Amino acid sequence: MLRYFVAQTAPTTDKMPAETGTDIERAALLLKAGKLVAIPTETVYGLAADGLNEQAVLSIFKAKNRPDFDPLILHVSGREAAFSLAEYVPVKARLLADAFWPGPLTLVLPKKAHVPFVVTSGLDTVGLRVPNHPLTLSLLKQLDFPLAAPSANPFGYVSPTTAQHVLDNLGDKTDYILDGGPCTLGIESTIIGFENDEPVLLRKGSLKKSDIEKITGPLKEKINVSGNPKAPGQLAAHYSPKRKIVIAEPENIGLLQTLPRPVTLLTFGNLFQAWENRVDRVLNLSPEGNLAEAARTFYGLLREADQGPESLIVTGYLPAGEMAEVINDRLQRAAFPFKNTSHE
Ligand code: AMP
Ligand code: MG
Repeated sequence: MLRYFVAQTAPTTDKMPAETGTDIERAALLLKAGKLVAIPTETVYGLAADGLNEQAVLSIFKAKNRPDFDPLILHVSGREAAFSLAEYVPVKARLLADAFWPGPLTLVLPKKAHVPFVVTSGLDTVGLRVPNHPLTLSLLKQLDFPLAAPSANPFGYVSPTTAQHVLDNLGDKTDYILDGGPCTLGIESTIIGFENDEPVLLRKGSLKKSDIEKITGPLKEKINVSGNPKAPGQLAAHYSPKRKIVIAEPENIGLLQTLPRPVTLLTFGNLFQAWENRVDRVLNLSPEGNLAEAARTFYGLLREADQGPESLIVTGYLPAGEMAEVINDRLQRAAFPFKNTSHE
């Protein structure tokens, strides 16, 4: 598994860095020609290609250094387009689509034969989503094919929430970056699969489980922690910066003396207030202690913590709240295998 856990930040080709802009026509032309375009969504930026063109889809895996067992999500402009890619649509999938599309919900449904297996990593099911971003929705409306798009980062590294993040990591591997501003939600979509027509939570994400349950009733969870193709976003190590992350308890301030300097503190509200003037740099996910803001700033601040003078990142689990659980899940994977309070 660790074989793939290599964050590629240095350019490895001679290709010129991609241009960034808001030219939808240009993005559409490139995508029709089988090229790669980074697209904004409300969750994170995606690295998109024609989802029915096998070669184009393969080039996404290559650009990201993504293992072939990790399936992609197909993005479309509306529910008819989405369901035309599914062999069968359970009643509760329709209800969820009506309630939450466009939005941060991915539905995993049995795929139609024309959806290439390269998109689904050989699975008979396909992940489908209607993203809620005006630029990307108008781009999708100009295309007569779905866009396969995983997050636009090297596999295993921190997800991108601005066009600049994409440029920093994949600028030389993508043909154009559609700049839709910073992502408004900042954490990936929630993924729902189906078993005997009943919804199952495969990955926690921006859409709250409690909101889904208002439509479906109690949700079964099948979240994998071991790197299973059913939900590879759940790999033990994922979303990781290059620097070591220590997850600390705010009470355990004595830990600071044992850590190598400099130390960057990634905090939330006043969680680590007593630590703030004893570390070298403080980054706050939300000074007001707002979880939606923390979701929005999370990946960007992890990237910031990963830059500047070589530093150890100290952070802690966010306190109670549904989004806290979702962010803590990412935090734990970002810290792997350094989640023990010892930096070794
Ligand atoms: P990313 O957009 O980088 O978060 O990656 C897409 C994620 O969607 C994958 O890592 C899987 O967790 C999930 N996914 C996509 N297609 C399927 C599928 N057919 N079955 C289960 N999970 C899927
Ligand atoms: Mg990803």
